[in-house]
Amino acid sequence: MDLDFSQEQDMLRETVQRLCSESAPLAVVRKMEDDPSGFSEQLWRQMGELGLIGLTLPEEYGGAGQSSVEGAILYEELGRSLAPCPHFASAVMSGGALALAGSDAQKQMWLPQIASGAAVFTPAWLEPQRGFGPQGVQLSAVRDGEHLRLNGSKRHVACAAAATRLLVLARTGNGEHDVDLLLVDPKSPGVEITQQYALAADTQYKVAFKDVRVPLADRIGAAQSGWSTWNTLMHDGIILLAAQAIGGAQRALEMTVQYAKEREQFDKPLGAFQAIAHYLADASAAVDGGTTLVYEAAWTRALGRPVDRLAPMAKLFACQTFRDVTAMAQQVYGGMGFTIECDIQLYFRRAKQLQLSWWDTRYLEELVASAVLDAGQPPRLTEDGRKTFKTPPQPVRAVRSRTELAKDLAEHANQRGRCKTYAEMH
Ligand SMILES: Cc1cc2nc3c(=O)[nH]c(=O)nc-3n(C[C@H](O)[C@H](O)[C@H](O)COP(=O)(O)OP(=O)(O)OC[C@H]3O[C@@H](n4cnc5c(N)ncnc54)[C@H](O)[C@@H]3O)c2cc1C
Repeated sequence: MDLDFSQEQDMLRETVQRLCSESAPLAVVRKMEDDPSGFSEQLWRQMGELGLIGLTLPEEYGGAGQSSVEGAILYEELGRSLAPCPHFASAVMSGGALALAGSDAQKQMWLPQIASGAAVFTPAWLEPQRGFGPQGVQLSAVRDGEHLRLNGSKRHVACAAAATRLLVLARTGNGEHDVDLLLVDPKSPGVEITQQYALAADTQYKVAFKDVRVPLADRIGAAQSGWSTWNTLMHDGIILLAAQAIGGAQRALEMTVQYAKEREQFDKPLGAFQAIAHYLADASAAVDGGTTLVYEAAWTRALGRPVDRLAPMAKLFACQTFRDVTAMAQQVYGGMGFTIECDIQLYFRRAKQLQLSWWDTRYLEELVASAVLDAGQPPRLTEDGRKTFKTPPQPVRAVRSRTELAKDLAEHANQRGRCKTYAEMH
């Protein structure tokens, strides 16, 4: 792996750094907390003008056609500044879905608008009390002539009030992967959006769908191909979120090191006390290790190699590091770190939320465990020929008693003879 950045990549980083320091200082981050639109229009407009919104979208549709490495550079800097913008929801996941599986007409219609920032798209994916896997999608889409009729509700929909279209994951049948991706106008009759308040005060909405009619022409890709598209996109997307997390961890550590040099207790700077110095040293090792892992995942993806194991590992590790570094930082800041006035809490709240969002620790651990323990099994291929997971992650289950577990294992052993894969062990 080549860890040197090219001149163009260094220039990209400097451009994003300058933009964030001018248009997304922490005062703007605070101002945009729980704002109904959720992002600074000035920042979004400038990102569009600089070609950053469409950075990884195809050039023929107004994007810059850059790879995951450039994407990771962008996200590392956005993470450092906590820049409030709908880039991930709109350009990465929604634009990515159109680029990967959309028809020519859909791409021509929407991608240039997404790349310029004129249109904001956002995924409506998660549902109340359900998991991150395909079974978590229960909002129903029933055929009604040349339309689908949607009923159900979604949670944690980013910036829905500012969205031109929602990218809705909807269930069309009883098979595990019977999921479609649909573009829905949030102003359609039967759509109701309500703001919900979250840990990081980023702007999220609950969206209820009651007999919402969606033309079949607004489906992305073939019927029941939605989960495959979404799963592929998530693997690409979480590499960028890992970069965002590691950028946040880097900045939180820098702020804490600075504070530990300035704040004096018992006639010495805090950093001179071994207990504090060791916290900072451990955090520094974790941040450097996480940064390398993130760029290894981005580089692997840019070369077109499978990231089944590296992408979940990168998000798992980077988000854990971001969470641990910011918790440690609050401790070093002492009583002040506990207060709203202190900037470090902005980082801590976002660290925890990023860890819980877009596949949480448990789901990522299942993916990594499947990739590690099922290595050597023949791969499954998606419709577009890309390799996917041999063992889909297991749904989250309630904790069972030892007796129930022993009974299950005995039944399992009887049925299968012996455990062969991680999935079978579960
Ligand atoms: C909500 C709130 C209410 C409060 N109310 C009161 C009140 O009513 N009355 C009052 O008197 N105070 C009050 N305080 C202040 C509180 O007592 C102090 O915040 C607390 O004692 C910690 O001191 P500090 O914030 O100055 O941290 P610092 O002393 O600067 O410590 C920062 C960090 O460095 C570590 N550290 C410090 N010295 C050493 C050392 N020698 N070796 C290793 N590590 C070290 C600490 O453990 C901590 O992790 C309040 C604080 C808060 C947040």
